[in-house]
Amino acid sequence: MSTVIETPDLPPTSGKAERWTNQWLELKAEVIDAKLCTGCAGCVISCPHDVIGYNHEAGGYTPFHLEEELGPDDCVHGQKGCTSCTRACPRFRQWEHQANEHLFDRDREPDEVAGIYQDILLTRASDDMVHQMGQDGGLVSAILLWAMEHDYVDAALTSYLENGDNSTWKAIPGVAATREEVLAGAGSRYTYSANTLAIDEALERGFKRLALVGMSCQSSIAPTMWSRKIGKISKPIVFNIGLLCSKTFDDAIFEELFWAKYGLAKSEMVKMNIKGVFQIWMRNGDYHEINLKECHAWTREGCNHCPDFAAEHADISTGGIGKDNDWTLTIVRTDLGREIIQRMIADGSIIARPGDSDPGAIALMRKLAEKSRSRWPETAESSVRVGLPEPKRKGA
Ligand SMILES: Cc1cc2nc3c(=O)[nH]c(=O)nc-3n(C[C@H](O)[C@H](O)[C@H](O)COP(=O)(O)OP(=O)(O)OC[C@H]3O[C@@H](n4cnc5c(N)ncnc54)[C@H](O)[C@@H]3O)c2cc1C
Ligand code: SF4
Ligand code: SF4
Repeated sequence: MSTVIETPDLPPTSGKAERWTNQWLELKAEVIDAKLCTGCAGCVISCPHDVIGYNHEAGGYTPFHLEEELGPDDCVHGQKGCTSCTRACPRFRQWEHQANEHLFDRDREPDEVAGIYQDILLTRASDDMVHQMGQDGGLVSAILLWAMEHDYVDAALTSYLENGDNSTWKAIPGVAATREEVLAGAGSRYTYSANTLAIDEALERGFKRLALVGMSCQSSIAPTMWSRKIGKISKPIVFNIGLLCSKTFDDAIFEELFWAKYGLAKSEMVKMNIKGVFQIWMRNGDYHEINLKECHAWTREGCNHCPDFAAEHADISTGGIGKDNDWTLTIVRTDLGREIIQRMIADGSIIARPGDSDPGAIALMRKLAEKSRSRWPETAESSVRVGLPEPKRKGA
């Protein structure tokens, strides 16, 4: 057994493709121990031997190896040739380049720090209830409803609140296949939910074509899997809706900051949002703003080096930045994303206006995308930092 990590970064563009031999051994060393792991659970769902577990607890959101035989750092099945986990991981080696080539037939240009896209719009659901229940314009929920109704997908991997209410504010993965289920999951929780983990439930319920709703880190899973030809597990995810994201918080923030310092009980919170400050609305009608600098200490560890603010590999990426609170900033990236958005505009399911009508929103997206990319370590895959200004050196 060799522990030397010396395998090709990329399949060559011409000639005989070199064999992809990377397994858990390399994943653990290069992604998890290197602190690049986001907790997206791509490796967990990809493992055909079910030997990768997932820690859902506060301070966790990390994968780990379940078998004791070779210890936590190596895998018996990997030694025998299984490579699924590294094929699935959207932080392993040249994930960004490979997913870009697969989705767009080209890599991003240096000035495309927010990823490759076709259109930017501001959108909102036409259905008042969907609009009202959505975090911003209710676009994500409107798309899910429309895509199910128009036979693009059978169900969505999405997120809910534990117990179906505000008692714990713990975000958990789940499946949405009806209007009730889609609306029950609407809105944003700012703690982590590895929505990919709902795939087992979806397949058990007999759904074959799935939409994945997820933060940027999760949006890169399927394109990375497709580009590395992982096979069966990547097939059910046919549509990818991304949520713009600069960080999630550890669940401990509720007790250790909101309750301990401000006396805000999570069971009394009805909505939260982040617009320059952490906004919290309480059941009794009170509204609180908490400085984001104060929240910083509870940033979930998996987010610290994440370079992708704009969900660059989603079909459609969605965010809440902009001068109007009740519109969703909508970045249309792929042909499939454009087809769905255009059909929804045409049949009146959503209202759209050009993104240019709020140039500040696009400028802010770019700024935040640069900020996230600058967190990617200089020692890791260098192409991810392409487009960033040269870092200022001491004495320069
Ligand atoms: C953790 C997090 C951080 C975000 N950070 C930013 C940001 O910095 N800037 C920005 O512009 N936008 C950010 N967003 C996106 C924004 O909050 C909205 O989700 C987006 O604008 C879509 O709004 P909507 O009204 O169209 O979606 P809705 O119709 O409300 O649908 C939202 C969908 O997101 C899912 N969801 C909610 N919470 C989670 C979660 N924790 N994990 C996984 N899925 C979830 C829901 O289940 C639902 O399907 C963030 C979202 C999340 C969840
Ligand atoms: S980034 Fe995702 S796929 Fe990669 S090791 Fe972490 S949880 Fe697994
Ligand atoms: S910042 Fe957002 S997209 Fe990045 S790892 Fe954290 S949750 Fe995922």
